[in-house]
Amino acid sequence: MAHQQQHEHPQLHYKKGEHGLVRHSPYTMLPVPDALEIVLREAVAARREPERVELARAAGLVLAGDARATMALPPFPASIMDGYAVVASDMPGTFPVVGEVKAGRVADFEVKPGTVARITTGAPVPAGADAVIKVEVTELLAERDAEGRQLVKFNVGTAPGRCIRPVGSDIQPDQTVVTASTMIGAAESGLLATVGVKEVLVHPAPRIAVLSTGDELVEADKEPGPGQIRDSNKSMLMAALHQYSSGRWEAIDVGIAHDDPADLRAKVTQGLNEADVLLTSGGVSMGELDLLQPLLEELGTVHFGRVLMKPGKPLTFATVPVPTPGGGTKTVLVFALPGNPVSSLVTFQLFALPALRSLAGHPQPNLRHATAKLSFDAPLDPERPEYHRVKLEWNDHDNCWVAYSTGNQISSRLLSMQSADALLCLPQAEGTLAAGTFVKALLIAHLN
Ligand code: AMP
Ligand code: MG
Repeated sequence: MAHQQQHEHPQLHYKKGEHGLVRHSPYTMLPVPDALEIVLREAVAARREPERVELARAAGLVLAGDARATMALPPFPASIMDGYAVVASDMPGTFPVVGEVKAGRVADFEVKPGTVARITTGAPVPAGADAVIKVEVTELLAERDAEGRQLVKFNVGTAPGRCIRPVGSDIQPDQTVVTASTMIGAAESGLLATVGVKEVLVHPAPRIAVLSTGDELVEADKEPGPGQIRDSNKSMLMAALHQYSSGRWEAIDVGIAHDDPADLRAKVTQGLNEADVLLTSGGVSMGELDLLQPLLEELGTVHFGRVLMKPGKPLTFATVPVPTPGGGTKTVLVFALPGNPVSSLVTFQLFALPALRSLAGHPQPNLRHATAKLSFDAPLDPERPEYHRVKLEWNDHDNCWVAYSTGNQISSRLLSMQSADALLCLPQAEGTLAAGTFVKALLIAHLN
């Protein structure tokens, strides 16, 4: 029986060992940095052409070209204060008020020497005036002048230009206000709006198909039968896509594939056709029903099938050329993530997330990191570098982040990911890393 299986299984390789046949993976074990380099190289090559979108739909996307102002800001000399538009050389003294100009209006009078005009913040400074004096340093007199005009006493002097924003002082016409590769956040949206940019050239948001694999899985809203469990990875990965893109990336649920070559092929093909990136989970370890790698070998190029890391060793990455409806070809990135939920999420964060951020146009797609002080003795693995899930808390006394373990780190225990802020990078070594040691922490959450 064992002998029959080895011939039926296309992926497991066998070689003669001391006590019989030893099964081993055909894939070289790549160090994490090497694997990440391959992933990012392929992501840059697979980027879709930039497209134009209306500014109102562009928040959260990354600019593909510089955006330039089409006009100056302010477009007129604008008052910085509520007060009076004056002729600077007159001041101080007492002068009659010849008119009033409010924000949004343009004065139909001039301010001649010996007169002043009431003005509000943001209003265009009337012709003739060359400074504004704030209302706080003036006195409104009870009497009026011979022409019945209100009189105001100015207690301080001023200089030409005071309290006026000259034309173009915030933004010059034709100035680049947002450079390519910047994500359009709050400030950028405001800047683009203010300078009259109505459409922007952006990197399109990636579309990601998510597929679970395994005969034991049922959808999350179904009751598992004997020997079955609910699919947690699909809900988890769909939520991760939403979380890390603030809802910008399009996630497509391709369902659950049985451990059956025809069903797997059909669902993988559906995912490849509909998306830029396919995330699968399960079916990449050393079991007889781990059918994904042979399928990906057939459809495209498997760049690696094992990574030197814990958790997540069987992570597999492939690129597949797929014909598009327009008659062209696209390259789909496929991350065949390990089935254990923790391994799935950690490999998503370490590899798929930077690739997606790169596709989305981010110039620095990798996870950001911080240094954190261990609050516990961290056990090390002599065979693999480990990504230990931790919560980070800022310690005011020591002026540093302190890392607290999320508990048992077995790769099936998703509770160890819950409320984790970071993945601690523990070296491959014997023994433990003592509490108090400073360690690199890759950030997987916004730190509140
Ligand atoms: P596999 O890589 O397919 O051998 O799966 C490894 C482990 O992860 C097994 O215990 C599976 O039952 C479990 N697993 C695989 N996919 C999922 C999933 N979508 N949700 C929950 N557990 C899963
Ligand atoms: Mg499986």
